[in-house]
Amino acid sequence: MDGKRVAKELLDAAATRVQTIKGKTGVTPCLATVLVGADPASVTYTQMKRKRCESIGMQSHKVELPQTSTTEDVVSCVTELGSDPAINGILLQHPSPPQVDERAAFEAIPVVKDVDGVTFGSFAHMWFGEAGFASCTPEGIVRLMDAYDVEIESKHAVVIGRSAILGKPMAGLLLSRNATVTICHSRTQNLSEIVAQADIVVAAVGRANFVQGDWIKHGAVVMDAGYNEGNVGDVDFEPAAERASMITPVPGGVGPMTIATLIEQTVTAAERQLGVA
Ligand code: NAP
Repeated sequence: MDGKRVAKELLDAAATRVQTIKGKTGVTPCLATVLVGADPASVTYTQMKRKRCESIGMQSHKVELPQTSTTEDVVSCVTELGSDPAINGILLQHPSPPQVDERAAFEAIPVVKDVDGVTFGSFAHMWFGEAGFASCTPEGIVRLMDAYDVEIESKHAVVIGRSAILGKPMAGLLLSRNATVTICHSRTQNLSEIVAQADIVVAAVGRANFVQGDWIKHGAVVMDAGYNEGNVGDVDFEPAAERASMITPVPGGVGPMTIATLIEQTVTAAERQLGVA
C-alpha cells in the first residue's frame, strides 16, 4: 500500500480547501507547532510538519521553548495559542522534557484546535463517534485502508500495542467501523496465535521486525505503524508480504499518512472556526 501516493492525494485535496477558505474569508489557515527542547528527531518532525503546511498554502507558526521549561511555561504558551484567533490548530511535539507534565500541557489545547488528537476531549469524541479530531496515525491508517477499499466491517482486527496515541485510538476507530477488535500488549499470551486469526493486523509495538511473517493469515491486511531505528517497521516485511493481501512498507506506508492527516485536520479546524462549509 502506497502511503506516499495516498498522502499526496489527501494533501492535494487539502490545498484546494485552503484556497476556498482564503477566497471566502481572506484568512490563511495556520498550524502552530510547539517544540520544547531540541531533541533532534522532534526538530526534524516539526520542521517536516511546517513544510507540509506551507507546501499546500497554509501558514505555520513556530514556537520553540527551552529544554529547561516548566509545566507552567508550556501550559501558558499553549493557552495563549489556544486563545489566538489567528491559530487554527496546535501541535505540541512529544516527548516533552521529563520535568514537564505532558498531560497538563496537552489538556491546555482547546479541543477545537486539537488537530493532533491528543487531548482527553478528542479521545472521548473519537470513542463516542462524535465529530472531533482523532489521533493522526490511527486516523491515517484508516484513511489508507479506505483508499484501498479494505473492508473493515465484521472483520477481525488485531491491534498490537495500546498506547494513548496509537493502539487505543486505533482500536476505537476500527470498532466504530464495526470491526471485531482484539487489543494485544506486552502481557498478552499466545500473541502469534491471536495474530494468526486476524483479517486486519495493526502493528504498533516499537520493536523492529517484531511481527513474524508466519504469524500472518493468508490474505490478511497488514498495517505497520512501527518506525524503528534504521527506518525499519514492526513487521518482518518480506515474509509477511508473501502471505498478506495488502501490506504497508516502512518507510512510505503509514508515516506519510500521519502528517497528511494532521494537515487535513488543521484545514477542517480552520473551516469550522471560520464557518466555511
Ligand atoms: P509505545 O508507547 O512504546 O507503545 C508500545 C506498545 O507496544 C505498548 O502498548 C506495549 O505494551 C506494546 N508492546 C511492547 N512489547 C510488546 C510485546 N512483546 N508484545 C506485545 N505488545 C508489546 O509506542 P507507540 O508510541 O504506540 O509507537 C509504536 C510504534 O509506532 C513505534 O515504532 C513508533 O515509532 C511508531 N509510531 C509511528 C508513527 C508514524 O507516524 N508512523 C507515529 C507514532 C508512532 P504495554 O502497554 O503492555 O507496555
